[in-house]
Amino acid sequence: MTAGVNFVPTTCPYCGTGCSFYLVTRDNKVLGIEPWQTPPVNEGKLCQKGRYAYQFIHSKDRLTKPLIKKNGGFVASTWDEAYRLIVEKFKSFKPEEFGCLASAKASNEDNYLMQKFVRIALKTNNIDHCARLCHSSTVSGLSEVFGSGAMTNSIPDLQESKCIFVIGSNTFEQHPLIGRRLVLARKSGAKIICADPRYTPTAKQADLYLSMYSGTDVALLNGLMHHIIENGWEDSDFIKSRTKNYDSMKKTVMKENYNLKNVSEITGVRESDLKTAAEWIAKSKPCALVFAMGITQHTVGVDNVKSVANLMMLTGNIGKPGSGVNPLRGQNNVQGASDMGCLPNVYSGYQMVTDKESRNKMMKIWGVAEIAESRVGYTATEMIDNLADEPGKIKCMYLLGENPMLSDPDINHVREALENVEFMVSQEIFLSETAEFADVVLPAACYAEKNGTHTNTERRVQRWRKAINPPGEAKPDWLIISEIARLMGYEKQFSYKNESEIFDEIARITPSYSGINYDRLEHPYALQWPCPDTNHLGTQILHTDKFATKDGLGIFMAVEWKPPAEVTDPRYPLILTTGRSIWHWHTGTMTRRSETLDREVKTGWVEINTKDAETLGIEDGEKVKVSSRRGEIEIPAKLTEDIKIGEVFIPFHFKECPANVLTNNAVDSISKIPEYKACAVKVEKMNDRDKEVVGRGQRAI
Ligand code: SF4
Repeated sequence: MTAGVNFVPTTCPYCGTGCSFYLVTRDNKVLGIEPWQTPPVNEGKLCQKGRYAYQFIHSKDRLTKPLIKKNGGFVASTWDEAYRLIVEKFKSFKPEEFGCLASAKASNEDNYLMQKFVRIALKTNNIDHCARLCHSSTVSGLSEVFGSGAMTNSIPDLQESKCIFVIGSNTFEQHPLIGRRLVLARKSGAKIICADPRYTPTAKQADLYLSMYSGTDVALLNGLMHHIIENGWEDSDFIKSRTKNYDSMKKTVMKENYNLKNVSEITGVRESDLKTAAEWIAKSKPCALVFAMGITQHTVGVDNVKSVANLMMLTGNIGKPGSGVNPLRGQNNVQGASDMGCLPNVYSGYQMVTDKESRNKMMKIWGVAEIAESRVGYTATEMIDNLADEPGKIKCMYLLGENPMLSDPDINHVREALENVEFMVSQEIFLSETAEFADVVLPAACYAEKNGTHTNTERRVQRWRKAINPPGEAKPDWLIISEIARLMGYEKQFSYKNESEIFDEIARITPSYSGINYDRLEHPYALQWPCPDTNHLGTQILHTDKFATKDGLGIFMAVEWKPPAEVTDPRYPLILTTGRSIWHWHTGTMTRRSETLDREVKTGWVEINTKDAETLGIEDGEKVKVSSRRGEIEIPAKLTEDIKIGEVFIPFHFKECPANVLTNNAVDSISKIPEYKACAVKVEKMNDRDKEVVGRGQRAI
């Protein structure tokens, strides 16, 4: 070891896989990242984002001082001046006039204090975070079917599978170290099935690729179940002993609409491929199902999730190693931010705000006589709609590191909303596209500069460890929130000495985290919830004997297929689906400041099938105009046969060609998740707007 060099074990700030590594530091600088072999998630391996997750830390444009907007521009201020203004303004608004967004990139401690502050000091439940945009339909759907919205199995456990059905997840690019488990499972003889409108790197690794149209998931899943039941391949013992409502589900999927001939017509998947997939899923036990935003980000996101749960219960693939319903959560701590109660309907541990006992429990532990009323608050998507469509309803926004100006659908609508905010505070590490709209920007510490915990996609609680000091006057989010709360009169409730003390309060108030504390997270480094007491070793597999529903039974749901909210027509004849690149992360705030990642992929592109491109006269690399009913962007075309004819794909990281100018803000009626995965667009050569466009015409998807 070189003199003065330290190796600080911590966890990746990007995706929900939760890989761990050492930050290599010297003289308060992070020099690089080295593998840490012990953690079970990644076993010393990293993807390119994790490998270079240190390069943005010392960027020259990190925020180092509080900023206050004066005469339309930002002016550096002292913390005292910024806090005084915030407290004065916060005290001037009514509870229902606040809209608050927590952060799936921040720690559990930051998020727990954010919702505690919002409920105690601002007295509102108007708090949400970007889980609304990625997996709110998972939480709603699985909670109804299983009684719990989390991933049922574990990442290493995928290697026990004999068959893995990946639907709506480009696992190799979005969760690369989970993708590695698919390869290892396949080496041990597992069959991999992948259903996706794009022939992604994940699809290319599969034994069977189901080339489906975007927005046809329920039809596909009902078709598979139809064929399984028709052939008597269902797991009757599991259905009888562990579930209820089977007959109603069976009646729906056995309708003629879902025979494989019709399903093939709706989904675009060959009938023979559907038959093979159904047989493999039913007969190769145990079978695991993996899904991500291709399932959730639809106006029927909750139906899609219920449908994947139906398939796994039908085949008895729940509660056993190598089986299960495995939603892959997007951001590093989107699971934790939800667990911590940064949602408008629940406190931490999914304790309902409408439940009198839960509300009394919070007031007692927090030592206050009053908190937000027992009424469900606004979701993130409702906050934006209220701001844009009913100015004056919400007047003040408090944001912890979220960037809706790039991440939300229909960006022109979001801009309109943010322009209507009377007062906005943003805690950030960089001046993001959204922070530009704030009245006060507070400089925050990044993951390498603070202690804390976060919870990955498989419910594994792991540590972040402070490796260096934050730049300039930046502070950890939990400390900023506590200092504002104390100035608002909540001295006793926010007088934490360190992060470990906050975690102990989380464990006291959150049943699934009760047995976890900082000492236990040193050895064996991580614990998976539920962990009900300090002797408990954590839970690798959920629902082994009974489900988390009231009577312990899984509930089959009858689900009918419905097309997406926006269908194609002669003017907008192509279906747009959006997603990520392996080289970048979400709105690019961190990855685009990493020189290695930026060197590899510098800007966005629209993927278009070579046949569609030929009809339009578009060449590879040519800049084209893509437009929807909401706006238009200019973007280079990438010609490929890896996407279905009639579909196009755009990654959403790039502010110079933002996919979300085009996307539709129609939402699922239950989870309020927007339909990012299907909207109607046209692609044109630049300055050639009258040229005839191609697509699937009037087809109703
Ligand atoms: Fe980080 Fe995800 Fe890559 Fe692991 S797979 S290194 S958590 S980005």
